Amino acid sequence: MAPPSEIRNGLSFDIEEWFHILNLPTSPAPDSWSSLRVTVVRNTDRLLEILEANSVHATFFVLGWIARQHPLLVRRIADAGHEIACHGDMHELCYEQGPLRFEEDLRRARGSLGDLVGAPIEGYRAPGFSILAETPWAFEAIARQGFVYDSSIFPAQRQHGGDTGAPVHPHAISLSDGSQLAEFPMTVAGWGPLRFAVAGGGYLRLFPYPVVRWGIRRMNRAGHPGCVYLHPREVDPGHPRVEMPLGRRFRSYVNLASTVPKLTRLLREFRFAPLRDVLRERGLIDAAPRK
Ligand SMILES: [Zn+2]
Repeated sequence: MAPPSEIRNGLSFDIEEWFHILNLPTSPAPDSWSSLRVTVVRNTDRLLEILEANSVHATFFVLGWIARQHPLLVRRIADAGHEIACHGDMHELCYEQGPLRFEEDLRRARGSLGDLVGAPIEGYRAPGFSILAETPWAFEAIARQGFVYDSSIFPAQRQHGGDTGAPVHPHAISLSDGSQLAEFPMTVAGWGPLRFAVAGGGYLRLFPYPVVRWGIRRMNRAGHPGCVYLHPREVDPGHPRVEMPLGRRFRSYVNLASTVPKLTRLLREFRFAPLRDVLRERGLIDAAPRK
């Protein structure tokens, strides 16, 4: 087993706009999206600069809609050597879509991304980590659409999604045809059912840096990689706000100014790589990419 400091952790970004906030009646309708202020390009470019300055590569889970709106941005991410993966097409919750719409959404997103990137799209992450114990059909659809890994499991309580019974480290999910799909869950800490996320989104912004560091070190000491996730809007404290109730507003917008300093410290104190590379070095996906 590699010593904790040598373990490569997964670094990921979900590439979507400031208005892609789930489960809110006030979220703008899809037919208005293309008329709203664009922030994803500038904020993703900022992330690319931070990664380049620290010589780190990451996985970018991109929405199909974003790929069609901003093809040059997706090309820039790929040309910088990062992994392009899929965040679905129109940012809908898997358990609300149901099997047919979910698979159609996957197919459309994969098509849009594949047209732009001359490499196989190997990874998928569901919007809102919305694959649950009750939606095992989702893994079958993800594999059928040609993905070799998923990163949608949130092994702690959460508003949309959350599976407190799921393993907390990368593992293989067995499918009905006897094949397997690799899974890279989000990093949680805690004990038994009292698990909480520490290394992404609002959790990373809410907790002081030492808690985030403790959570990832704890995973690494157990021999497992952690997984950090962020969104472009989180590096931009001035981004437009979606109207929402007080509790949601707190979670969505708390400590935005802390994201860049925390991310920069993480990049200096831990080793990171695209999720695909971490899963491959752990033997959870084949050496040769699936076409
Ligand atoms: Zn998302």
